[in-house]
Amino acid sequence: MAMRDWIWDGGRASVDLVNTLRDRKTGARELLDEADALAEWLRLAELADVTAAQALPYLRAARELRETIDRVLRGQLDEADVDALNAWAARHHQPPLQLRLTPRREPVAHVPAPEEPVASALGAAAADAIKLLLEPSAIRICASDTCGLRFVDRSPARNRQWCSMARCGNRAKARQHYARHKTT
Ligand SMILES: [Zn+2]
Repeated sequence: MAMRDWIWDGGRASVDLVNTLRDRKTGARELLDEADALAEWLRLAELADVTAAQALPYLRAARELRETIDRVLRGQLDEADVDALNAWAARHHQPPLQLRLTPRREPVAHVPAPEEPVASALGAAAADAIKLLLEPSAIRICASDTCGLRFVDRSPARNRQWCSMARCGNRAKARQHYARHKTT
């Protein structure tokens, strides 16, 4: 199956998750449309290496968590969302690193998989959103009329406008350029 057009410009896993609902300003396009998509996203986000069958029971919950994270990061704080976010964050569980020996008795690390890898991975995204909210980071929405992607603004002057210059910034500049030349 062709890879979906994931975008990783959010700057954080929780923001990238929010951006799996695309074109939010123009009706919205669901990228987490099936279990296979969720498994693919979790793998590419390096949160969990899981199959579609493992992801399937969590598909709906993942979309709900995504919208909870979006509301919270946009400052719409209510008790129900905070409870949901905390409940998810509590499901993040990384078993402690284990030591293994190779046949030549060299020490190597073994990273055990959590018992519920999908729940744990979504929990990691929730925990990331909590951390992000408590940081002085600026979370912005792309200035494009159509895009709606969210991103963490790390520009020195905290004045980044576009999710990415290549995708939305250049398009806007071209439009401004065209408008200027039309009037002169
Ligand atoms: Zn954009």
